Amino acid sequence: MSKENFNKLIVLGLDGGTFDVLDPLIEKGIMPNLEHIIENGVSSTMMSTFPPLTGPAWVSMATGKNPGKTGITDFINIVQGPTDKKFVSSEDYRVNGAFWDILNDHGYKTYLIGYPMLYPYYEINGVIVSGWGVSDDGKLAYPPEIENRIEEISEGYINHVPWRTKKEYRDDKKILIDDLSTMIKKQKKVVKDLINDEWDLFMYVCSASDFIQHALWDEIKDKDSLNHERVLDLWSEIDDIIGILMDKEENIFLVSDHGFGPLKNKFLPSKWLKENGYLVTGKKNNCVELASTIPSNIDLDNSAAFSHSTGIHGEIHVCIDEGKRKIIKKIKKEMKEYSEMKDFKLNIYEKNELYEGCRLDEIADILFNVDDYKCNISSSSLDGEIYEKNYKFKIRSGNHREQGIFCAYGPDIKSNEKLDDVKIYDFAPTLVHFYDIPVPDDMDGHVLEDIFDKDSEIEK
Ligand SMILES: [Zn+2]
Repeated sequence: MSKENFNKLIVLGLDGGTFDVLDPLIEKGIMPNLEHIIENGVSSTMMSTFPPLTGPAWVSMATGKNPGKTGITDFINIVQGPTDKKFVSSEDYRVNGAFWDILNDHGYKTYLIGYPMLYPYYEINGVIVSGWGVSDDGKLAYPPEIENRIEEISEGYINHVPWRTKKEYRDDKKILIDDLSTMIKKQKKVVKDLINDEWDLFMYVCSASDFIQHALWDEIKDKDSLNHERVLDLWSEIDDIIGILMDKEENIFLVSDHGFGPLKNKFLPSKWLKENGYLVTGKKNNCVELASTIPSNIDLDNSAAFSHSTGIHGEIHVCIDEGKRKIIKKIKKEMKEYSEMKDFKLNIYEKNELYEGCRLDEIADILFNVDDYKCNISSSSLDGEIYEKNYKFKIRSGNHREQGIFCAYGPDIKSNEKLDDVKIYDFAPTLVHFYDIPVPDDMDGHVLEDIFDKDSEIEK
């Protein structure tokens, strides 16, 4: 049975939100609503998944489970071999027990606006409006009647700005800023309208914050840059949405899937594997389709290992079974030696050092990051230096970090408290607990009991 007459919960997901950016914006008076939440609520950094990447992080946020249980370490996952790639989809949320399914089972109505990669839609008690990572079949929302409503309210809904690929953005960042502003404004209209419906949980994920920090990190940090003021205006527009959520006078959780920091260097793992004899090329094969993450001409029959990466971290799959353990150890040791020779920082792990769970088989044998994420890892390329400092990227100047944010505020939440040691896995158990539902045994996180006011109904 669902509880009745309670202060409800609104969740704002700020993709890539980090106090390294938000604190200075608050100090400048650009985000007064966020400032109010932090000063009158509970806040903490929140450690993301390894890797701190939108795919695995939002799945772990929804399920409270580590990638060893979800099987998800990237938004494109390599399952059996380089030709078997799988995008994160609603299926990954469903099979792993997302909090909205748990809430629905207990009679609560959930509104989910912009949750990344929650596609294709399925029947829920509530609403799904598409987030980032949806195929282009034009479908935006569930149930179907919501589709017309959001199209009308927003005069053409936008859930994604192709900041990485559109050539005009590289030539003139003002066009990108205009498009981001339009996207935020349209989403604001939809949030402002749907929030007046009847629901028990309302969640909106803002993906624009991730796009802004990837493409305009330098413009955020450099006060003298041409577009600095206009980029600050984008944050001010995001803060307006926080204001709309606060007007409901319910409880608010504000979370990010990962943090952000500068991007400087570049590393090419496939080239390293090739030069060290693990990867053989020269044969055109059906890996062509995978050109975005793996060189298209690898000779699978003669390669011992291949690498896959979408930029933030790297993965190495050892593709021969005989002597696999030995090869894994050897690759780790040799890549570490290479990093010491070239003077960069390599954090490299075997999967069982990072994760536990029944889906470890689906995860790469080796995972790593370079220079604490200040380095882009591109496994598709075999051209150029293996490691290059101060590489000039076409549009990117920011990259993910592990330190995201968690804030809570409202009638059931303590005032002006700082927490530490909050992990992304704690979010789902805490949310389920809020609705008076027993936390499932297989969630890895803990209920953040310290955030709740001792006199609130939740603690009684
Ligand atoms: Zn993200």
